[in-house]
Amino acid sequence: MDKKQIRKYITIIQYHILMLLGVHCSVSGGLDKAFDEAKHLGIDTFQIFTRNQRQWKAKPISTDESLVFKAAFKSSKVKIAFAHASYLINLASDNDDLWKRSTEAMIAEVERCHSLDLAYAIVHPGAAKGLDENIAIEKVALAIRRVIKATPGNNAKIVVENTAGQGTTLGYDFQQLAKIIELAGSERVAACFDTCHAFAAGYDISHQKGFEETFSQWDKTIGLEKLAAIHLNDSKTPLGSRVDRHAHIGNGNIGKEAFRLTLKTFPDIPKVLETPKEENMDEKNLEVLRSLI
Ligand SMILES: [Zn+2]
Ligand SMILES: [Zn+2]
Repeated sequence: MDKKQIRKYITIIQYHILMLLGVHCSVSGGLDKAFDEAKHLGIDTFQIFTRNQRQWKAKPISTDESLVFKAAFKSSKVKIAFAHASYLINLASDNDDLWKRSTEAMIAEVERCHSLDLAYAIVHPGAAKGLDENIAIEKVALAIRRVIKATPGNNAKIVVENTAGQGTTLGYDFQQLAKIIELAGSERVAACFDTCHAFAAGYDISHQKGFEETFSQWDKTIGLEKLAAIHLNDSKTPLGSRVDRHAHIGNGNIGKEAFRLTLKTFPDIPKVLETPKEENMDEKNLEVLRSLI
């Protein structure tokens, strides 16, 4: 075998060993294009935006789109795929119109997940702005209850993500996510752990002791059984900075050890990169992650 063949062979082996490791895939040119990218990268999970995430307006998924996507899903090696909801959504908003609009948009997100066999829609809890944080958390939970009620017979989950706590954003403290999940009171609500957000919020996962303490905290508040997805991002900003800036794996303030521990501890949880899409950085970041196992 020449070098090229050996490398190809190693990639194939890694592909079969590495479980549930992927990236946020692009859907330019069609939602099903995500499967081409997944194949190219040799990944078995991914996250997508199911709509233009910078606009409120979003067409529902057409029957054709749904069929094409599901067929591509079936013939792919992807085991689980999920959506990230639009960043415009603020389920904590103190503005009634914006809150209603956000709730409606979240219902549509969950409906699109259902049409595409996506397991869940990940959403940031939102920003409290002028509201007291506890009241804002109740608003988020109320919105989620409405979404659940409006989508019966839909198995797609609503997954709330931890945040860096920039500005007045909620969800920087695991207890806040736990409270939202508790108040939402449905099996269809779970949580996503973002490594960069956790670190920026002050959870020091960069070494083993801190990593263990962080997940012990998660377990005591949210519960490990509620961990549905992990976002793998290094952090450009220091511990506790409350500023959300994603860095390439090993190039930030978190460092590789946290990612080694994450991969080792959570083989069964889908883990995706949300690092800047520069040149072939997804390939490079995946290579770094695979080398850690
Ligand atoms: Zn994230
Ligand atoms: Zn982020």
